Amino acid sequence: MKKFWNEEFETMSLGDMERFQLERLQQTLARVQAKIAHYRSAFAAAGVTPADLRALPDLARFPFTVKTALRDNYPLGLCTVPPAELVRIHASSGTTGKPITGPYTAADMQQWGECMARGMWAQSVRPDDMAQNAYGLGLFTGGLGFQLGFERIGCAVIPSSSGQTERQLLLMEDLKTTVLAATPTYALTIAERASELGKDMRRFALRVGLFGAEPWTPKMKALLEERMGIVAHEHYGLTELMGPGVGFSCEGGSLHINEDHVYPEVIDPETEQPLPLGEMGELVLTSLQREAMPMVRYRTRDITCLRRDACPCGRTSVTMEKITGRSDDMMIVSGVNVFPSQIESVLMEFAEIEPQYVIHLFKKGYIDAIRVDTEVKPAIYAQGDIFLAQLAARVSDRVQQVVGIKVPVAILPSGSIPRSVGKAKRIMDERKEIH
Ligand code: ADP
Ligand code: ZN
Repeated sequence: MKKFWNEEFETMSLGDMERFQLERLQQTLARVQAKIAHYRSAFAAAGVTPADLRALPDLARFPFTVKTALRDNYPLGLCTVPPAELVRIHASSGTTGKPITGPYTAADMQQWGECMARGMWAQSVRPDDMAQNAYGLGLFTGGLGFQLGFERIGCAVIPSSSGQTERQLLLMEDLKTTVLAATPTYALTIAERASELGKDMRRFALRVGLFGAEPWTPKMKALLEERMGIVAHEHYGLTELMGPGVGFSCEGGSLHINEDHVYPEVIDPETEQPLPLGEMGELVLTSLQREAMPMVRYRTRDITCLRRDACPCGRTSVTMEKITGRSDDMMIVSGVNVFPSQIESVLMEFAEIEPQYVIHLFKKGYIDAIRVDTEVKPAIYAQGDIFLAQLAARVSDRVQQVVGIKVPVAILPSGSIPRSVGKAKRIMDERKEIH
């Protein structure tokens, strides 16, 4: 069987890829300039026209697109085609204010399926697999994006969507599911429910997990692999750029970007200047082939870096580091930057602690305060207050070593923290209510 889904693009030489990208970037800029008032005025304000893009580094002269531009142009103000040419419209959850729409033409759907299939193929998904799609099916791009990829490859898909965890397990056992697609925190919820029901998932037919849509630490990956007896793979994407399909992990564990569809840059979020390969900053993405709603220099707020090291899998595409957090998830507590992923990695060092947590931000008078709530299994909880206080103190000391500030830790009985069925909410910011 073929090794790559699309050998031509996945193993293209850098020179050929850059020529392809330049041509497609020029087309994207011309398209948005011709069709979208927002881009016309943004380009004019920056004193640029699409003709100014003569080489890839010229892209840095073009203005960024931020989430508010999508909100201000809700629902279809950034769409380059009339609604009659659309075949699908997704929307992101949009926890604050209006949602963000993701419109697709038939060609966009083709590309999306292509990007998903490349990643899944790299992750060993084949036509004879039985795939269970436990991402939420609906407006969220995750569910139907994975559905499209599985169907493109031609495996059998169980569109179980998220939730109804016992039924997920039943289907998995009865249909001998080999591939599970879910958010990592929902996968953890499934694993936890299995052990409560006395089921050993390592005895299931499950072989691969396709996880993504939210940040997760390498330790969480190892834990899921261990509990489910699988190889855990990763997908990265966002509604604005198509949904999942932007990046995928290969057998070597690198996250490859489909760079013939999405052009990546990493910028310093303060100076807004592009950073060289290997330097951490904010990921900025530009669509290269999208028809309905191409994005120009979209600021993802996701923190990562890009690399071009030779990958043992044979793909030549640029890779990104695992996302360590979102710049808007970064908490500033007593002047120190804290990411939920740092807290997660510390909690997971402790065998006594369950991988469930919520970070509370609140006010103590005028001062910002932080507290981490986490859980232990009933047998550990039963060891009593003194034991639990000592454990909390040990965890808190370790957080201080890693993060640099003292973070009180509260240890709660098992089941206190609501379980995730999609993207987990890790930060409870109660500061606003007190103002
Ligand atoms: P929303 O969550 O606002 O509805 P999306 O569903 O489009 O919007 O979410 C996209 C965001 O999800 C990304 O910008 C990123 O922060 C996060 N995300 C997606 N995949 C991953 C991943 N593999 N690792 C870390 N974060 C991810
Ligand atoms: Zn690779």
